[in-house]
Amino acid sequence: MTKNPEIDNHLKIQTGEDYINSLRNRDLLIYLMGEKIVDPVEHPMIRPSINAVAETYDLAIREPELASVISPFTGERISRFLHIVHSAADMVLQNKMQRKLGQNTGTCFQRCVGMDAFNSLYSVTFEIDEAHQTSYHVKLKEFLTKMHTHNYVVGGAMTDVKGDRSLAPHQQEDPDLFVRITKRTDEGVYISGAKAHQTGCINSHWMIVMPTMRLGENDKDYAIVGAVPVDAKGITYIYGRQSCDTRSMEGGEIDTGNNTYGGQEAMVIFEDTFIPHDHIFMDGEYDFASLLVERFTTYHRRSYVCKSGVGDVLIGAAAAIVEMNGVEKASHIKDKLVQMTHLNETIYATGIASSYQGHQTKSGCYLCDDMLANVCKHHVTKMPYEIARLAQDLGGGLVATMPSEKDLKHPEIGHLIDKYLKGKSSYTTEERMRVLRLIENMTLGRNAVGYLTESMHGAGSPQAQRIQIGRAMQLEYKKRLAKVLAGIENAGDTVNELSGYFERVFKI
Ligand SMILES: Cc1cc2nc3c(=O)[nH]c(=O)nc-3n(C[C@H](O)[C@H](O)[C@H](O)COP(=O)(O)OP(=O)(O)OC[C@H]3O[C@@H](n4cnc5c(N)ncnc54)[C@H](O)[C@@H]3O)c2cc1C
Ligand code: SF4
Repeated sequence: MTKNPEIDNHLKIQTGEDYINSLRNRDLLIYLMGEKIVDPVEHPMIRPSINAVAETYDLAIREPELASVISPFTGERISRFLHIVHSAADMVLQNKMQRKLGQNTGTCFQRCVGMDAFNSLYSVTFEIDEAHQTSYHVKLKEFLTKMHTHNYVVGGAMTDVKGDRSLAPHQQEDPDLFVRITKRTDEGVYISGAKAHQTGCINSHWMIVMPTMRLGENDKDYAIVGAVPVDAKGITYIYGRQSCDTRSMEGGEIDTGNNTYGGQEAMVIFEDTFIPHDHIFMDGEYDFASLLVERFTTYHRRSYVCKSGVGDVLIGAAAAIVEMNGVEKASHIKDKLVQMTHLNETIYATGIASSYQGHQTKSGCYLCDDMLANVCKHHVTKMPYEIARLAQDLGGGLVATMPSEKDLKHPEIGHLIDKYLKGKSSYTTEERMRVLRLIENMTLGRNAVGYLTESMHGAGSPQAQRIQIGRAMQLEYKKRLAKVLAGIENAGDTVNELSGYFERVFKI
């Protein structure tokens, strides 16, 4: 895949350090703030996002049962992020790993989009083959084997830039506003267009390109799913700015708030990028685009339990600052910490319940419960904002007005900062400043991208979940329950509603 032959042929990434080294000497065309980036690995604005992915490998070494599996394709131990789930327990373990990584990094560790893309494609390719006598499923398994062999990072590229949201892809004035096939040859297809907000794309080895919404017959050329190496010809990456991102270029380590870890999003532009047949898993089967989007979002919306791990860090920061301020015993303070925990565990509870209530698809791969996945993600569009509000309440105004690290370390005024920003005597001023900066980082700064805006829009904006919840809520059944108790219908009419969501609820 890469222009570095050593990486392509021999590499099996095991540690975080192996992973970081695998990103060196690649030939990616990346722009950041108007400049071409030759060495993203050593770039201070990019490196924290690389460290967050590296932690997924290191966790797999420290806690192999949690973050790795034995590949059924290679027999070797690989990252759980590359695993096809074959039981509800497998999905639950994905969630536990996500919570732990949220705790360890305090940010988005970027690998779940690819994981959820693989799993949704596993069942969807199986069902496309059944309907259209194609051979996508076996090609996907071969591709997965390759990913397992090298233990690669794979990103998921679904969201198109979309132009006028009221128009279908083929109706747009500019046809490239959704990624589409521009040319077909005997060897494969060429694609053009752009994907927005791509999490961890520059930190990946491969990307899976997928359609973003339901497609019709006229959108056939937009019905493309394919795997692309991130350094394929014709790809340009334009790095997304994050709030306070240039603080990491100032040389200090306090003002960044979380100096080690960060997330990454970029716009990915394809200009006649080639995908060979071996790496194509949908080509023109527009009738399966909505099924793919639905299954992907079902997995991905309960993957947002990652935010409960990040929430643990923010609750911890809030608890630490109130102690440093000497107010930890006040009843309203304790109550706010309880409220934050209640919200955080509500996210976790619905996500993990979705996994526990999963079921098997025809391919053998498991799928989590769509109602509970949507409820989980819908909570995530609101609860982290309330948790962040409470953290800012408990942190005090210094979260937003505190002087800089340079002032603290200044030869003339440093002693003034040290004196006047002191809290409880058992903590240093610097310790207090570090916690305040972490709260700023997570609620206003770089990692607010992952904790707040990504919570709002990632895996679909709030309305997308309400639509799915509305579709699955079985109102007719609930009306019958009410009518029987109200004496309008006979009891016999209400029993055995064993379809959809309630089939899963009452499955013994
Ligand atoms: C931090 C972050 C990371 C992300 N990572 C990834 C990733 O790795 N891979 C990936 O594929 N995607 C990713 N996404 C994209 C995410 O799925 C989208 O942001 C989401 O689907 C919303 O799309 P949008 O941003 O284009 O907003 P829009 O679609 O413009 O939505 C804005 C508002 O308009 C409403 N709206 C949109 N269309 C319509 C319509 N037709 N009718 C009525 N109302 C409408 C929405 O409900 C919403 O309220 C990420 C997003 C963020 C913010
Ligand atoms: S937002 Fe959460 S689920 Fe999505 S990639 Fe980041 S860590 Fe994973």
